[in-house]
Amino acid sequence: MTNKTKIEEFKRRLKGKKTVVVGMGRTGVAVAEFLANRGAEVIVTEQKAESELGTIPHRLHSLGVKVELGKHSPRTFLGSDLIVLSPGVNPGIPPLAKAKAKGIPIVSEIELASWYLDPPLIAVTGTNGKSTTTSLIGHILSQSGKKVFVGGNIGTPLIEYLLHAEEADYIVAEISSFQLETIYSFKPQTALLLNLDEDHLDRHSTFSSYAEAKGKIFLNQGPQDWAVINNDDPAVRSLIPQIRAQLLPFGRKEKGKRGVWLQDDGSILYRGETEEERFSLKRVKIIGMHNIENIMAAIGTAKLYAVAREVIQESLDSFKGLKHRLELVGEWKKVSFYNDSKATNVASTLRALMSFKQPIILLAGGRDKGGDYSPLKDAIKEKVKALILMGEAKERMMASIGGLVPTYLVREMEEGVRLAWEMADEGDVVLLSPACSSFDRFQDYRERGKIFKEIVFRLTRQKG
Ligand code: ADP
Repeated sequence: MTNKTKIEEFKRRLKGKKTVVVGMGRTGVAVAEFLANRGAEVIVTEQKAESELGTIPHRLHSLGVKVELGKHSPRTFLGSDLIVLSPGVNPGIPPLAKAKAKGIPIVSEIELASWYLDPPLIAVTGTNGKSTTTSLIGHILSQSGKKVFVGGNIGTPLIEYLLHAEEADYIVAEISSFQLETIYSFKPQTALLLNLDEDHLDRHSTFSSYAEAKGKIFLNQGPQDWAVINNDDPAVRSLIPQIRAQLLPFGRKEKGKRGVWLQDDGSILYRGETEEERFSLKRVKIIGMHNIENIMAAIGTAKLYAVAREVIQESLDSFKGLKHRLELVGEWKKVSFYNDSKATNVASTLRALMSFKQPIILLAGGRDKGGDYSPLKDAIKEKVKALILMGEAKERMMASIGGLVPTYLVREMEEGVRLAWEMADEGDVVLLSPACSSFDRFQDYRERGKIFKEIVFRLTRQKG
């Protein structure tokens, strides 16, 4: 039996199936509960020890779920009919490879959830801009009076929609490339691919394997479905021959075609099959060219669901953006402090630098993901008046992009922000946009951003 046939059987019936859930975070627990509700036998396997997991194992026990803690034993995997991965789990870990070789289907949580979802699914992927675009689409559709479930990588796992028996008109989901690696029949009605830049090379060994994983978002779509794609991104365009869905491109070029196009006067034109609509960016609060791209993708998607022009325009104007993405967190004597802690790769830091006209004092560095920092060189020369490097990546960054402008190495964030503060002149921007992940020092990008904000807040209060 092929995995596809096995999956068709699981869709009909999970009762009595032996299932293994890998990971005991929020998603893993929700998956286990869902599978148990459907009558499956469930084991959750987690590498962390019992002492780190609080009351979770107890809760799972009370649902009739077995737990394996402190290890992932090959026997657990090999004895199962279906393995479901939590988002952070690497599908390449050795016990999974053995299960795969034995022909046991290994799926991600989004794949499992998609088997049972009724409302139209709008799925957003790309290297950067996923969360912003996902929440903007959610905002526009809600403003149009529809009930929307916004989830996936952005916070609430998709499977929780099924657990709580909610009824939404639409589901908007942020999907990561890790989750796309293990899909079989996941089929969004509308799939967005925002951009493809080098990221996660620590996880995907080559750029082409990363692009291939992202391209899987279109894999099961047919001619009734839609693919909203960045027409200006060559790596995205290279996937077009594989797409069976109808294309809705967005970008700056080819303005004559159906799609969403940035005009020379700074407005956005949606060109539908017969109609045209214009949108103004004058009152939009989120800054930078990259956000214009996110907005174009969201407008295109909203038009596929027939949202009225006025509703879209009002939603664009009222959207405040998300924390930790070019978030203005303080101003003192006309020095502006921006928290872009979510910039965990070179592409997003580059976009941040391009978003300002003012001189920038850039704070960067964190955990090194093995990528190439040199694409930042020109923007640093053009926009940055001082570069402050911190974290595990600082030496490698120094070798690649140091010395183009006055460059300083610091031990920790506080020292970096203080230094930036001392160097800043009226009209400058102090920008935390690390181009690295946060896991060398912080729990995640949120904690890193929060600490930056606290330091800024303290300093500006002292001086103010
Ligand atoms: P994701 O969910 O894909 O990580 P976010 O919306 O959280 O995307 O933004 C992550 C980082 O990327 C932030 O620093 C943000 O300013 C930047 N960014 C947002 N949209 C884009 C885009 N379209 N292209 C490049 N960078 C972007």
